[in-house]
Amino acid sequence: MTRYAFVIDQRKCIGCHACTVACKAEHDIPIGVNRTWVKYIERGEFPNSRRYFLVNRCNHCTDAPCVTICPTKALFKRDDGIVDFDSSRCIGCKSCMQACPYDALYIDPNTQTAAKCNYCAHRTELGLEPACVVVCPEHAIISGDIHNPNTEIAQIIAREPVRVRKPEQGTKPNVYYLGADEAAINPEAAVQELPQMTMWSTLLQPHQERESLFDASASLRDGQPAHDTPQHEAQLRSPSSSAQQSRTLPTLNPLKPYQPLAPTRAQIVYDPPRNQAPWGWMVSAYLGTKSLGAGVMMIAALALALYGLHGRLAGGLYTLLGLSAPIVGGLFIALTLFLLVADLKRPERALLLITKPNPTSWLVWGGYILGIFGLLELCWLGAALAGASGVLRGLLLPTAIFGIAAAGYTAFLFGQAEGRDFWQSPLLLPILLMQAALAGSAALGILAWPLSAGNVLTTFLTLILLATVGCHLLLVLYESFGAHSNSHIATATRVMTGRMLRPIFWGLFMALGSLLPLALLSVALIIPELQSILLLLAGVCALIGLFAYEHCFVVAGQAVPLS
Ligand code: SF4
Repeated sequence: MTRYAFVIDQRKCIGCHACTVACKAEHDIPIGVNRTWVKYIERGEFPNSRRYFLVNRCNHCTDAPCVTICPTKALFKRDDGIVDFDSSRCIGCKSCMQACPYDALYIDPNTQTAAKCNYCAHRTELGLEPACVVVCPEHAIISGDIHNPNTEIAQIIAREPVRVRKPEQGTKPNVYYLGADEAAINPEAAVQELPQMTMWSTLLQPHQERESLFDASASLRDGQPAHDTPQHEAQLRSPSSSAQQSRTLPTLNPLKPYQPLAPTRAQIVYDPPRNQAPWGWMVSAYLGTKSLGAGVMMIAALALALYGLHGRLAGGLYTLLGLSAPIVGGLFIALTLFLLVADLKRPERALLLITKPNPTSWLVWGGYILGIFGLLELCWLGAALAGASGVLRGLLLPTAIFGIAAAGYTAFLFGQAEGRDFWQSPLLLPILLMQAALAGSAALGILAWPLSAGNVLTTFLTLILLATVGCHLLLVLYESFGAHSNSHIATATRVMTGRMLRPIFWGLFMALGSLLPLALLSVALIIPELQSILLLLAGVCALIGLFAYEHCFVVAGQAVPLS
């Protein structure tokens, strides 16, 4: 069977960008995004330096994670091996951008749908070569069927020491490189020193309007901090400036502070703008609201199983577990679904998740689980209002099961995001379940006081919240400071606990959202008279901590460059 692939011979590539331009012309690609692009790396120090190139594009992976995660089959694998896409089915969920370990996809600014190299399928079907292959003046890009031993590409792959990008991801890429330098092919190997200075341009920050005053090379010549304000620039030009002595230059990339290069180290000297983090605050908030919506019902089901299995529900059991839990849980599940749809680039196509679902995508299964769980919450509320305690008890088990599913399915969804190793942790499922129990007991604990839930329920919620906050904290600490299986995870963890997110991780999550609730709940167990109010305070703090952690987790997971 035909399997189309590329060989890119970096020994011949001259970095002319003809492939990028030909691709843009062939597919009418807007400014600012690329289906294929060339990155420049330099090693050593002048005059003993050398420049390397790397041509990047979709690898038309044999086991393409973007195809697996795409919820509407907008991305699909053709019989000839090409991974193609149908933009009319794309809902703009950006999950493919998280699944691709090679940064190959982008959101087209005109259509707001995902796009990437499709091997010029329209040309290939006519027996023509892709536009980049035709235009390359060095014959550095070779295309063809690698299953046909008579093709040039099959013979090169059989004969030469080719390599692929990130083979450890298990995607079986079909772009083979010849002579690619490690620093070019591994996005974490080369430093991006002064990204405001590229080879051909100076990128001004928004406040640096007076370009004539801006001397981008001064920081390199004098070892001075980079140019944030005109006053700063004047200070830098002063011969007496103490800043002249400094060799710790700030850069635009917080992950890569400036350090003078050792001759053997490599630096990126040209790279087009990369994708920003595709998932933002709405995904962080979705994790928090989903934990709340699922957790409230999980804890309510547990409390009902322990204390309300016999007789009519009355008092705190009725108001808190019968009425408040499904109302709060239902509202937060509805908010979760709203956030999921609002985060789509094409929200008006959300129904394609139901009419054209991809059964391999956990986004689809997640939508179904949340929908069924929301219905169960509605039934629970109806049964409570009707005083049908028997029905309510019958709903205990399905509600608990779908609550656990709603809380935990995201571990499998994030597991499909193959590009983000930080999210692939085996601890993610227990962490998500713990977060749901934490959020549920915190929300019910906040309501317990105004609803006069009674001592038994208040003590129960105090114990559950104390246990879940403690366990969640231990799991996060183990995840953050235990051994990391690769540099990607180590870098993401450094981002989460380091300078960039320090106030949120250490301040909001650790101090306010974990240690303070632990202290308050411990006191609540010692002084029963204060239990209700302390539970309320601890619940508020724990929820703030939960949302803060979700933000750190989502931001840090996307901080490591993929290309
Ligand atoms: Fe292309 Fe990335 Fe999908 Fe592989 S995972 S086929 S490189 S878009």
